[in-house]
Amino acid sequence: MSVRPTFHTAPGDCLTLRTMKTIPHTQIAEPAVTCSTCAACCCQLEVMLITDTGVPERFIDTDDWGGEVMLRLDDGWCAALDRNTMMCTIYEKRPLICREFEMGAPECIEERQGISTAYR
Ligand code: SF4
Ligand code: SF4
Repeated sequence: MSVRPTFHTAPGDCLTLRTMKTIPHTQIAEPAVTCSTCAACCCQLEVMLITDTGVPERFIDTDDWGGEVMLRLDDGWCAALDRNTMMCTIYEKRPLICREFEMGAPECIEERQGISTAYR
């Protein structure tokens, strides 16, 4: 014995389906990685001074091995960072390592994720 499927549809259902419209929507883009939306995450890293770029003495510290590094304050950020703007106050004289730290690179993403709670 064959069983025929039974559909429970109202007379207007097909018409309703035909006239249904796709609701327009906007895909929200992932936020772009940019220093302007970052709490200067990479400025908490230890920055060794391997070349002389003119960093002022007051921002220079010595590590346990006698090497020169950027001084970091008690909050963990580099002493040369402006705490209000979260921008480098010695940008033209910043160390080589800072110049080569690439925005959007894996290291950058890692640092951003590491202190995401610090985002303003
Ligand atoms: S380079 Fe990356 S981690 Fe550093 S301030 Fe810019 S976005 Fe933040
Ligand atoms: S020197 Fe400038 S760019 Fe480098 S860690 Fe310090 S504040 Fe950041």
